[in-house]
Amino acid sequence: MLGEYQLIKQIGKGSYGEVWLSKHQKDRRQYVLKKISLVNASQKERKSAEQECKLLSQLKHPNIVGYRDSFELEGILYIVMAYCEGGDVYTKLKEQKGVPLPERQIVEWFVQVAMALQYMHERNILHRDLKTQNIFLTRSKIIKVGDLGIARVLDSSNDMAKTLIGTPYYMSPELFSNKPYNHKILKGRTPDMPTQYSSELLELMRSMLNLSPEKRPSVNRILRDPFIRRSIQLFL
Ligand code: ADP
Ligand code: MG
Repeated sequence: MLGEYQLIKQIGKGSYGEVWLSKHQKDRRQYVLKKISLVNASQKERKSAEQECKLLSQLKHPNIVGYRDSFELEGILYIVMAYCEGGDVYTKLKEQKGVPLPERQIVEWFVQVAMALQYMHERNILHRDLKTQNIFLTRSKIIKVGDLGIARVLDSSNDMAKTLIGTPYYMSPELFSNKPYNHKILKGRTPDMPTQYSSELLELMRSMLNLSPEKRPSVNRILRDPFIRRSIQLFL
């Protein structure tokens, strides 16, 4: 037992602690407990843990993992959130063993991630660690963006372009070069695109991978893209 929660099993190993499936004693429902150890944490790490809690508790969107509670116990911060039974997209893709997902599936997931980001960006919040490991699926296969561990509220004195943070494979070139926008353009080749997808989808992906940030579409622009609009119409 951990406060009002009964621990069931460990479902993840995070950078700052374990992620546990639990059951609430009273409502008998399952939740995820994310443990963040504060014992040996620096002031900065403490702040980032608090930030994750605060941001998650403020954000309410159908495609962002639901927050329930948080508490501190013996030097460990616990964040209690909705359990996404479908697991993370990284694991899901690994289970495909290289078999490409149908385009419809990709676009359905993509649109839901974009909607979560649109909601965050409207509030000047940057996720900063968007990747398949941090995108979860519910039992009914709804996308939930999670792990706001390094998310931040953007303000003018603290410009995003100045901070080197994130997961290498998923970082934008301008962050990788660790230079504020555009002083140096990294030379790189985008990996070959799979051939079975529509030219509209491939073109959209290519535009999002553009080396210069000002050429990449904003999330609002992505959601206004005619191909995306038509796809959304088709899902409904
Ligand atoms: P970290 O900041 O350490 O990366 P995450 O919040 O990403 O921590 O959690 C680590 C892993 O635990 C995730 O990649 C996922 O597999 C699992 N996980 C985390 N939260 C949930 C959740 N709400 N539902 C289901 N699985 C989760
Ligand atoms: Mg993570």
